[in-house]
Amino acid sequence: MSPIRQNLQAITTTIVAAAQESGRQPASVQLLAVSKTFGPEAVLEAVAAGQRAFGENYLQEGLDKIRAVQEAGAPALEWHFIGPIQSNKTRPIAEHFAWVHTVEREKIAQRLSEQRPAGMAPLQICLQVNISGEASKSGVAPNELAALAHKVAALPNLTLRGLMAIPEPADDFDQQRAAFAQLRTLYEQLRADGLALDTLSMGMSADMRAAIVEGATIVRVGSAIFGARNYDKA
Ligand SMILES: *Cc1c(COP(=O)(O)O)cnc(C)c1O
Repeated sequence: MSPIRQNLQAITTTIVAAAQESGRQPASVQLLAVSKTFGPEAVLEAVAAGQRAFGENYLQEGLDKIRAVQEAGAPALEWHFIGPIQSNKTRPIAEHFAWVHTVEREKIAQRLSEQRPAGMAPLQICLQVNISGEASKSGVAPNELAALAHKVAALPNLTLRGLMAIPEPADDFDQQRAAFAQLRTLYEQLRADGLALDTLSMGMSADMRAAIVEGATIVRVGSAIFGARNYDKA
């Protein structure tokens, strides 16, 4: 059995166990396979094992890969953009991806909505939130989240689905949970405020169990599927 197939099976087992542990339906947690720095052949191997949703961080690399796997005859896949977005690069994102997890500014959301081609389904959006203790500077501050969420929800060619965060890495399970709980609290506040959200994009290879226990509906998993990344090749 290919290592990628084996890893996908192991992760599925982990997802099911974490969901059941916390009284959740395993089917309520979607696995997003983060294929950044890995080539089309790795994606095709995951596709052969049944995986259909893939995440990419770097635009040009992602576009090349989407084209390569299409040309290789892969079935329809769902591509998620999960990297930082420059405002002059929104058009290809709007044209080639189904989801964007990393919207943190109104201007970017407006451009994605304007540039989403007519006839395509609305672009599915998560707002990236800078929850406290986050190492990166990315994400909207929690106190600016509600205003941004209401503006994005009103844009015609986007569907605001939920929130995403990348907490600072923590070894301790309870510390991991505490960070994800912050995101879940913000999500529940927005829902109470009338926004029809259904997505919490949180948890990666090292902390997906804690994320699922705190309500993740999408876990973004890279190295646990594809192996260690070599950024020199990317
Ligand atoms: C790379 C990346 C992941 C996957 O990280 P792993 O630790 O390899 O599972 C998830 N989300 C984002 C935004 C990433 O950039």
